[in-house]
Amino acid sequence: MQHDVIDGVPVLWSAAPGPLEAALVFGHGARDESFRTIGVTHLVEHLAMSTLPRLHHEHNASVSLNLTDFTVSGTDEQVADFLAAVCKALGALPVDRIEREAGVLAAEASGVTDPVTAELLSARYGTVGAGLVSWDGPGPDRIPVEAVRETVARSFHAGNAVLLLTGPPPPALRLPLPQGKRPERGDAQPVMSSGPHWLSANVPGPGLGLHADLDDAALTAAHAVLQERLRQVLRHQEGLSYDVDGARMHSGGGRGEFTVVVDARAGQQRRVAEILWREALRLASEGVTDAELSEEIAGFREAWLDPRATPAELGQAGACLLSDIPYEDAATRLAALAEVTPDSARQAFAAALATALLVVPEDVEVELAQLDGAPLTEGGCAHPRGGELPAGGKHFRPSMFDRLRFPEARTARLVLTGDAVWSRDGRGHVHHLPFADVVGMEVDGPGRVLFGRGNCLVPVVPELFAGIGEAVEAIDAGVPKALHYEPSAFADRDDACAPPPATKAPRG
Ligand SMILES: [Zn+2]
Repeated sequence: MQHDVIDGVPVLWSAAPGPLEAALVFGHGARDESFRTIGVTHLVEHLAMSTLPRLHHEHNASVSLNLTDFTVSGTDEQVADFLAAVCKALGALPVDRIEREAGVLAAEASGVTDPVTAELLSARYGTVGAGLVSWDGPGPDRIPVEAVRETVARSFHAGNAVLLLTGPPPPALRLPLPQGKRPERGDAQPVMSSGPHWLSANVPGPGLGLHADLDDAALTAAHAVLQERLRQVLRHQEGLSYDVDGARMHSGGGRGEFTVVVDARAGQQRRVAEILWREALRLASEGVTDAELSEEIAGFREAWLDPRATPAELGQAGACLLSDIPYEDAATRLAALAEVTPDSARQAFAAALATALLVVPEDVEVELAQLDGAPLTEGGCAHPRGGELPAGGKHFRPSMFDRLRFPEARTARLVLTGDAVWSRDGRGHVHHLPFADVVGMEVDGPGRVLFGRGNCLVPVVPELFAGIGEAVEAIDAGVPKALHYEPSAFADRDDACAPPPATKAPRG
């Protein structure tokens, strides 16, 4: 891998067959947003790309959890022209186009990760940083223009970029970006839930997340073996699943999540979740065989040493550079894997399983035990599950009409104390949301929907509670103005941010 610098931007390149491929990568992704500005990075990317003329060669741009990429392949001249145009656009974003591009984002509705991984990250980190990815936030049309300007100024400059090339830099290549200093992104993000727990969420199938050092070779090997075993059982033996997928999601400081996501045939989600958990326990107690270990290491060797892996390898090196993490090349990683033994793989997996989060679809309830026989408890934002509301404070209830008609309305309560709201939802779970933990508040006519940093959502709306005027006044005064926003014009009122926890039973 060769190193170079162009206009203050570090360049990493490695010759690979085929046309020249380039990626201009910035150290800013979805985890660098806040709840109030969810989607701002994607908006910056769209605004920059909207300035380009029609191009017939391959080009694209995308936002991931940690990075934003502008990619292109073609002749030297095409690559140089594209990159120069992107750099110029980032230096002078057409912010007058925000409204139109917000509409495009609403239509595109793309997620940073699959929905299962997104829920695992939110359960782990809360409504902050890497945990934001399962949330829609206020919506693309509610992103303040100042947030767009602030994001570009903070992160989209030469000091926070790296250029990756699959050949020597074209001599005419210029990267006319503003200069800047790489922003401080902090070390490992603190977790909200250390596990082990199961939780239910709006997901198509089950998933497992383990919080660990992502460079742990023994855990990397065990994680690969688990996926292969699940493929054998769920797909080939039982015919319950089509796809078993694993990923490593960086959340800063070299730490993050090893995930396993499986799909499930309709009606089989519970069974698939049980098998996923059973196989995880079995791996932690019995370990892996020599044959399984050799097989997975051979798979890594083949994938990593393939000449077609050059762009991916450059991508890893670039991501490390932007995160100030040392990059280990394929040979170094393979040498670490060669040291892994069946016992070290088992130990690493057993240790990581103590952090497990198992997400299952909403209509699925599971009863599972941990390795030592203790029950795997349900996690989530309610603390403690089924806990008590405060005795003091001002209490609000659903209207008498609703209490008579709907059983859930009899348990639902809203309590306002000096600096917090409490709610008891239709399942009897108590939520406590101090104003200081609010990350966003939707102002919808006479109602308010409060979003808390711990994945907590408390609706203070007249559809649920009677006579809330006083509560709304206190909440408006307690929650900083910068976090208030009106509902997105693009919101799908059926599933956006209005699943009222104290919801009424279906009629009829
Ligand atoms: Zn809650």
